[in-house]
Amino acid sequence: MKELDLNIHLRRREVEGVKMQKIKESALVVFSGGQDSTTCLVWALKKFESVSAITFNYKQRHKIEIDCAKNIIDLLSSKKNIQIAWLKDNAQINHIIVDMSFLSNILQTAMIQDLNIEYDDETNLPTTFVPGRNILFLTIAAAYAYQKKIRHIITGVCQTDYSGYPDCRDATIKSLQATLKLGLEYDIIIHTPLMWKNKAETIKMMQKLGGLELYKYTHTCYKGERPACGECPACELRLKGYKEVGLIDPLEYKHR
Ligand SMILES: [Zn+2]
Repeated sequence: MKELDLNIHLRRREVEGVKMQKIKESALVVFSGGQDSTTCLVWALKKFESVSAITFNYKQRHKIEIDCAKNIIDLLSSKKNIQIAWLKDNAQINHIIVDMSFLSNILQTAMIQDLNIEYDDETNLPTTFVPGRNILFLTIAAAYAYQKKIRHIITGVCQTDYSGYPDCRDATIKSLQATLKLGLEYDIIIHTPLMWKNKAETIKMMQKLGGLELYKYTHTCYKGERPACGECPACELRLKGYKEVGLIDPLEYKHR
């Protein structure tokens, strides 16, 4: 067991290092169509031999992001309207969309219902928190990966700008990875390339990967508006990142 853990540790360092070789294995990206997961998708395409993407439809208010997700997959697969020099032609990204709409029957959250975005006095969490979301999505992603003999899962969760969501924390992901390894008896590795980055650093990472123009097609706005509202916490955080890095967000906004 000790030897196995050490090997995993070494592989992690290889994958998350800056100058790394392509990993000749498949990866599955949890892909929402937002800025962070799009960065993860491009990162995965650069690092892994073949890439699949999994998108969850949980009747999110900003369900427009599912259309964005489909469009980004099309753009990357066809290399249409994007110029990423290293991206091979016909990248062939297998994309599956999983219906999780039952969540809207059991959860009351500003991500699904038309509720005000504010902080809960008791939990100190914003009303956009969807309890269990990442735990559930990563578990389903792992089940799918297991069936397809994929060992690498990539998620764009981030502890730096995480709005206090406890399921975005590094400890949650490490613990979930341990549980999935045990429960599936399978060597699943959950990669979190954005865990310790703020929005500005994520944008810089995408710039290095050559995929900045893809951000034009991503969705971030909590209100599900397009052009984006520019005023909700998600839009504000995104715009702040661009300001810090000194770049103009290619996304259309109503106000910025
Ligand atoms: Zn917005």
